[in-house]
Amino acid sequence: MHRADSSPHAPAVGGAPLFAPSAVGCAFADLPTSFYTRVAPRPLTDSWLAHANPDAAGLLELDAAALRTPEFLALCSGAGRLPGIDPVATVYSGHQFGVWAGQLGDGRAHLLGDVRGPQGRWEVQLKGSGRTPYSRMGDGWAVLRSSVREYLASQAMAGLGVPTTLALALTASSDPVIRETQETAAVVTRLAPSFVRFGHFEHWARSATEQAALLDHVVEHWFQDCREGPADRPDRPATACRLLEEVTRRTARLMAQWQLVGFCHGVMNTDNMSILGLTLDYGPYGFMDAFQANHVCNHSDTLGRYAWNAQPAVAQWNLTRLAESLLVLGCAAPDLEAALAPFERTFLQAYHAGLAQKFGFADWRPQDADLGDAWWALLHAQRADFTLAFRRLADVGADAQPWLDLFADAGAARQWLDRYRARLTDDPRPQAQRKAAMDRVNPLYVLRNHLAQQAIEAAGQGDSSEIDRLMALLRDPYAWRPGHEADARPPAPDVPVVAVSCSS
Ligand code: AMP
Ligand code: MG
Repeated sequence: MHRADSSPHAPAVGGAPLFAPSAVGCAFADLPTSFYTRVAPRPLTDSWLAHANPDAAGLLELDAAALRTPEFLALCSGAGRLPGIDPVATVYSGHQFGVWAGQLGDGRAHLLGDVRGPQGRWEVQLKGSGRTPYSRMGDGWAVLRSSVREYLASQAMAGLGVPTTLALALTASSDPVIRETQETAAVVTRLAPSFVRFGHFEHWARSATEQAALLDHVVEHWFQDCREGPADRPDRPATACRLLEEVTRRTARLMAQWQLVGFCHGVMNTDNMSILGLTLDYGPYGFMDAFQANHVCNHSDTLGRYAWNAQPAVAQWNLTRLAESLLVLGCAAPDLEAALAPFERTFLQAYHAGLAQKFGFADWRPQDADLGDAWWALLHAQRADFTLAFRRLADVGADAQPWLDLFADAGAARQWLDRYRARLTDDPRPQAQRKAAMDRVNPLYVLRNHLAQQAIEAAGQGDSSEIDRLMALLRDPYAWRPGHEADARPPAPDVPVVAVSCSS
């Protein structure tokens, strides 16, 4: 690990330091220097802390008072440093929209280092913090609009129990940034145990030495159970296959969770796939309102490659690219194929178990597959609201009308409901108990695009109260709260559709 002798931007303002030097490090920088470049973030000017997330802060043992200090603002706007640690930008490659894109990398992200907290080490990364050697044609900035979206989505997914990178802080400024129009710059400070992507492995697909170093790093820190062979003579091909199998399982379970909350990532390029199985890089994502199986949330995705119903297969395709990058370690192709094989079984198991819970069944039976297919067909045909269709299902025992109101063709909905009720008679739980269990897995509030849009517009005026309100709501999206009825509803027909694209 490299420690800077002195840092020109070390917090100079008085007060206790945010972190003890003994709690910080930068494990990634233990890798050979070909993996990264030491590069300083470019601090935002006139920055203000639009929001800080106390849950994420707690993971770093930062209390509410610490979040109000100038040192915290400095850290999250690119001016501060973890004590003694030089920030780095990392290099990776990837397939974008199915095509090999060559070298990419942290073009506007800086890894400040990692901090040890009560639950382990967390990498602290700034996104939108200026140019790096990997910026290519980009300006290194992120706009407030996309930063608010990333900040809120991280909380929404965490609240839903979906593995995700976490957002620690959102810093805004008046620095102008040119996109389709002129916007302003912002920085999201994010946390994850690791930001290593499939793309990091793809980058070293032809370099056995570096690939071995990356494998060793990832296995040492996050996948110790995958290690094969004695410590002094690791069996890297076998270890790589075990790692691939574990990443395959995690990714398959993640896809099941995305599908079950109606989340569309929007840009499932291999460089946006986390090796830890986290949801990573929130850009033109969307939580569906009206269900459409082939819904495409990203307006830049003209061919619909990343449609909702394509996501599991895309994840599998991406895992295959990861597998190919491991060939350089001497892995045999059939062994890599065997490591990829559990995807479908793992996905279906998690998906069926999750769907059973959402339907209020004690277990999933093979004959439920027809009912599940009919469910999606019904929602798709009538463009019923994804979130409310599940949520209101818990009440059909007492009063089916609110659920039926979600469907234009109530007759078709009633037909499905008859089959569903027949299935429930096999299930011994009392109705109240079933409803309570269903309400714990079917959220009432999701981050609908129009809600994020309201928060973006207010933040653009310097008002982060809407972000604060949504953060509290999304932290526990299952509990009904008085006064939040509108937040549970799909957008009214006269609300303009929010078009999201790769522009960020
Ligand atoms: P994304 O589509 O956001 O996953 O980004 C793909 C690649 O483009 C990554 O290497 C990013 O770091 C880089 N990138 C995206 N936006 C910018 C920007 N404004 N400036 C520099 N690099 C960027
Ligand atoms: Mg990305």
